[in-house]
Amino acid sequence: MNDMDLCNDELLQGELNEILEENTDLITVTNTAKTISVTISPKILLQLYKALKLKVNVMALLITAHEQVLKHGLEFNSECAIGIDIKSGKEITRDVSDLDKKDTVKLVIPSNYKGKLVAIHNHPYNSPFSTRDIHTFGTMRQLHCLSIQGHSGVAYTLIKTKNTYLKGSVDKLSEVFNNMRKEEIYKDKTTIEVGEIFVQAIADKTGWIFLKGGD
Ligand SMILES: [Zn+2]
Repeated sequence: MNDMDLCNDELLQGELNEILEENTDLITVTNTAKTISVTISPKILLQLYKALKLKVNVMALLITAHEQVLKHGLEFNSECAIGIDIKSGKEITRDVSDLDKKDTVKLVIPSNYKGKLVAIHNHPYNSPFSTRDIHTFGTMRQLHCLSIQGHSGVAYTLIKTKNTYLKGSVDKLSEVFNNMRKEEIYKDKTTIEVGEIFVQAIADKTGWIFLKGGD
């Protein structure tokens, strides 16, 4: 498949739909208890192509990574993070955590790595980006796309469209989020719903693209 000649959205959308159809077995993860479909959508893939020029073969690797972190999460009830080079599709980093020890995954990249990275990790409780995730995404220059795969099948994605970075600490972000949760207008919303509004507000300020799987 020649992905260099794709020049209009409709053509690309057709290609992406094909990739998704070819990979149906990759985007449905089965374990003994339940079958979960990973909901990374053609719309997310289209944005990845537009903003980052992500090649179709790298998109297929990204879908596989969604499957892998979900499989890991369901099997071990812990988090797994995978970082992939945007250009080559090569795996640059992988980390797993022990959820029982309240451990979280870290994206550790080689000090000499100068490329652009897309990274993905799972969230067992289907929450959107944590303040630590947002901080990592906002401060790591090599990181251009960060995705979350929830164990229910939901997926969230952040994409940098330009070089916008965050200043400030995780604590400051958490403080802003906690204050937001206390606001009257959010009192009937769940933590996940307020989390989505919080991430969207940051995305609006920074110019990042924030997408939810299935959109
Ligand atoms: Zn996270």
